[in-house]
Amino acid sequence: MDDICESQIKRRPLLSKRPRAMNETATVPHAAAQRTEHFDVLIVGAGISGVGGAYHLATQCPGTSFLVLEALESFGGTWLTHKYPGIRSDSDLYTFGYRFKPWTGAPIASAEEILTYMGEVIAENDLGKHIRYKHQIKSAEWSSTDKRWSIEAIRTDTGGTVRLTANFLWMCQGYYDHDAAPMRWP
Ligand SMILES: Cc1cc2nc3c(=O)[nH]c(=O)nc-3n(C[C@H](O)[C@H](O)[C@H](O)COP(=O)(O)OP(=O)(O)OC[C@H]3O[C@@H](n4cnc5c(N)ncnc54)[C@H](O)[C@@H]3O)c2cc1C
Repeated sequence: MDDICESQIKRRPLLSKRPRAMNETATVPHAAAQRTEHFDVLIVGAGISGVGGAYHLATQCPGTSFLVLEALESFGGTWLTHKYPGIRSDSDLYTFGYRFKPWTGAPIASAEEILTYMGEVIAENDLGKHIRYKHQIKSAEWSSTDKRWSIEAIRTDTGGTVRLTANFLWMCQGYYDHDAAPMRWP
């Protein structure tokens, strides 16, 4: 984490420090950014990975601005979207849980218990202010010139488009494609 904090996600200057001739047009590379929020890091998804990433950024990279965009109405990812009866972890939560919040319950946990645990992590570390729900990322484009990502998300509640930029894009989107699945959980 320290290396990432130091090297990759620090803010880069918006304008070159090279002196300009009087007749040279000063182009502002991120004119659109005046209307676009910018973050050092943008995390995709508020599952166990994204929430863990947010915790580590908050604790190990103080001063780093970051945002988590989550398409769904709440956190949890896997443990929110899979709803069949009896859903639970396969392996023990002593290893699946976060190192910084040791699991104290029975080794195998239900989805509900895992969601409660994740909710505690968010509340105890004041991570909620960094998470925006109902924001589904539709595209992310890297510009080598500007050295930043341009992200476009759709608000699933209003249908509005949200544009953001970030120095570092942290993919915590999981591996499920629920829209492509042949069945729907009730
Ligand atoms: C029944 C079951 C039991 C399991 N048991 C275990 C176990 O015991 N141990 C283990 O290691 N693993 C287990 N797994 C696997 C589990 O899925 C992963 O370990 C882990 O929960 C994945 O977390 P994640 O945060 O990486 O991804 P996810 O939980 O999939 O979270 C990704 C999040 O990203 C969001 N997202 C995705 N795309 C976008 C987008 N474009 N814009 C905005 N948001 C987006 C999603 O909505 C989601 O909330 C189990 C899985 C299931 C289904």
